[in-house]
Amino acid sequence: MALDQRDGALALLELLRDLPGEARLNEPLAPYTTFRIGGPAWLLFFPKTVEALAEAAKRANAEKIPYRIIGGGAKVLFPDEGFPGLVLHTRLLRRVVEQEEGLWVEPGFPIFGLVKRGLWVLAGVPGSAGGAVVMNAGTRYGSISSYVTSVQTLLPDGSLAIIPREECRFSYRSSLFREKRLPVLGVGLKLPEEVRSVEGILAERRRTQPLGLPSAGCIFRNPEGASAGWLIDQVGLKGRRIGDAQISEKHANFIVNLGKAHAKDVLSLIEAAQTAVQRIFGITLSLELEVVLP
Ligand SMILES: Cc1cc2nc3c(=O)[nH]c(=O)nc-3n(C[C@H](O)[C@H](O)[C@H](O)COP(=O)(O)OP(=O)(O)OC[C@H]3O[C@@H](n4cnc5c(N)ncnc54)[C@H](O)[C@@H]3O)c2cc1C
Repeated sequence: MALDQRDGALALLELLRDLPGEARLNEPLAPYTTFRIGGPAWLLFFPKTVEALAEAAKRANAEKIPYRIIGGGAKVLFPDEGFPGLVLHTRLLRRVVEQEEGLWVEPGFPIFGLVKRGLWVLAGVPGSAGGAVVMNAGTRYGSISSYVTSVQTLLPDGSLAIIPREECRFSYRSSLFREKRLPVLGVGLKLPEEVRSVEGILAERRRTQPLGLPSAGCIFRNPEGASAGWLIDQVGLKGRRIGDAQISEKHANFIVNLGKAHAKDVLSLIEAAQTAVQRIFGITLSLELEVVLP
């Protein structure tokens, strides 16, 4: 669909007109991300039901319209120019059903809600259940993949499917849903039996991470046997600033937004870190951050 922004937004609005949800035309994405960065999406749509989310994704696929689903926006960098397509936001999809074997949650159910229900290994990780599954969110105590029993998705042929955990291709900060960019429509979970207080974990995170400033958590995956933050510190880039984006002084694998950072500033810092670490250590830093290209 080769449309300009205004016509594109109106065409999308028309495409989703009969679906239950809230629509915002040409809505800046920055406020919907923890980085506070990103220009407008042609249409930002908040489906009110999982069926509407699936149907919106299906129609976007059929019309070959670029689309993205976001939850907490805690791992995503949108371009300054914005997103020429549809962004589906899951914040209205927060239902949870207790089952004999565990829980079934909608994709917008917050991670902190899972932590409150016993998933202590993710204490302090912001975002939604859907985003956590896509990213296989985890901490040094474990990853969500160990607790997922199945995931409901929409296959490219337009059919709904329940994928058992063994077929979700979970790996370090990735999954089938990230690789193939498939929607996560619902998540089955079996929570850990061990009960643990999260106070100590949260205090440790406050001590070691720059939580007072907007960021998207760790930018890079830790390479095998090494820490990305340590490597960036060793090449002398801790504290490096471009515009209002800065490699955190507190944790060099975080880039923080000091006020009005642009996506291009963040991308320049990413490139600087990758180039220096490659040159000095011969190690390739791969992105954990989900960068949406202009
Ligand atoms: C301060 C801070 C600390 C963090 N600490 C950690 C940590 O310790 N461990 C860790 O793993 N992560 C951490 N993160 C990153 C982030 O919290 C996780 O990656 C989280 O799982 C992101 O969830 P989200 O809902 O915000 O995803 P989003 O940022 O909204 O989306 C991330 C990706 O998933 C896709 N997506 C989201 N929802 C869906 C859906 N329903 N269907 C299909 N695709 C979807 C998006 O398109 C995007 O590609 C941290 C982030 C911050 C800001």
